[in-house]
Amino acid sequence: MKFHVLSVFPEFVASVFEYGVLRRAVAAGLIEPNVRDLRDWTEDVHRTTDDLPYGGGPGMVLLCEPVFKAVEELRRAYGELPLIYLSPAGERFTHATACALAESGDFILLCGRYEGLDQRVIDQLVDRELSIGDYVLSGGEVPAMAVIDAVARQIPGVVGNAESVPADSFATGILDHPHYTRPEVFRELAVPEVLLSGHHANIDKWRREQALLLTYRRRPELLSAEQLAAARRLLQD
Ligand code: SAM
Repeated sequence: MKFHVLSVFPEFVASVFEYGVLRRAVAAGLIEPNVRDLRDWTEDVHRTTDDLPYGGGPGMVLLCEPVFKAVEELRRAYGELPLIYLSPAGERFTHATACALAESGDFILLCGRYEGLDQRVIDQLVDRELSIGDYVLSGGEVPAMAVIDAVARQIPGVVGNAESVPADSFATGILDHPHYTRPEVFRELAVPEVLLSGHHANIDKWRREQALLLTYRRRPELLSAEQLAAARRLLQD
């Protein structure tokens, strides 16, 4: 899968491909970054990508022209790629969105900056807007990196241990269970005995119960009626 990104800080976004799982996936040819500088589609000597807002007010607005030219060029080169604008006004980006995007084919991520993007880009070019949460960041670069990482993890082979992705939080429908590693006792804090027992059925049962209880405490809205009842029974025992 090729990840096309348009940003005024391309090196920042490109860094997401330089570490850990994603770096290995690039090396293995499973994913390919195409992170482009919006300034490459400016004409003036200052490579301007923003201007003052009509109607006044604080801040600057990302210009139509470089975005239109960039998207048109990418679509000429790679076909009619959907354009996804990272925006606080977008639909919430979730695990389900990540899974769907991993199967949907390539797309372009557009990172806003300043006060935002000229509305005509949104009206004419943008197919979808995604928000990573109810807060405002300084630009779409961090949201784009979150989307890239979450989507890439859903591409078969990207995460080395194939068993880990389906067992992650949300992939199972609930939160993940607690994890422990060596030493067995750290500052008088012992690892739960069942994990040292070697009894796989008991370990699986303990993990399922712990995941259910954690989800019940933190995110009860993720649980079905049966799961809620099961969590309550566990708490009564
Ligand atoms: N004035 C805008 C508002 O109040 O909605 C905020 C603009 S923000 C400073 C600049 C850019 O960061 C946005 O155009 C968008 O691309 C990106 N951004 C900020 N918060 C985001 C979020 N929660 N999810 C996705 N993108 C976000």
